[in-house]
Amino acid sequence: MKTIGLIGGMSWESSATYYREINQTVKQELGGLHSAKICLMSVDFAEIALCQEKGDWDKAAKILTNAAKSLEKAGVDFILIGTNTMHKVANQIKANINVPLLHIAHATGERLIADKIEKVALLGTAFTMEQAFYKDTLSKAFGLEVLVPQAGDAQIIHNIIYQELCLGKCLEESKKAYLDIISRLVEEGAQGVILGCTEIGLLIQQSDLNIPVYDTCLIHAKAAVTLALE
Ligand code: GLU
Repeated sequence: MKTIGLIGGMSWESSATYYREINQTVKQELGGLHSAKICLMSVDFAEIALCQEKGDWDKAAKILTNAAKSLEKAGVDFILIGTNTMHKVANQIKANINVPLLHIAHATGERLIADKIEKVALLGTAFTMEQAFYKDTLSKAFGLEVLVPQAGDAQIIHNIIYQELCLGKCLEESKKAYLDIISRLVEEGAQGVILGCTEIGLLIQQSDLNIPVYDTCLIHAKAAVTLALE
């Protein structure tokens, strides 16, 4: 079994989901007392969130590159960045390490293609929904048509992530707001929805919706196990 390196803490609420999902999947695959070989390098999310707010992506890239290098020194076989948003600096991190990086949007795109989804809704932080780094990976590498919420709705999705989900708060009214926004995207033709922020799964699950739900945190964790057991 390969050793998985996880850059976590963005936020730690979802790092906990990664840890549980990776171990549960290893247990399902190998049975008995098997568990995953994981090395976690967890950063202080307040520092990263400040860089995001200021648009100082270079500083954020440096912090995450240092985390990746520490994981490499610790002997991991490959690395996951445990957040969609910070894949904005994935190429900078990748350029500074010698072990592979398992990209969250690639793992997700592969699942959508396997399910023959062509038009998909994307929910995430404003950075993920609005900027090219994520949507372009889905559209250019996988030929997907990506629908994002209109401006007011996008702001609601974004604020709930930072003001509630990353602080471990799951409110019924926020869940309703998310489901209303998803239903508008379904009216526009979305055949499935990508939970493109690793905390959204704390609020929305497959059982809440009639269309396929692609939880990037769970997909990324499972893809890591597949690679670790190859
Ligand atoms: N975990 C979130 C994501 O998947 C948001 C936190 C962050 O900005 O990194 O995008």
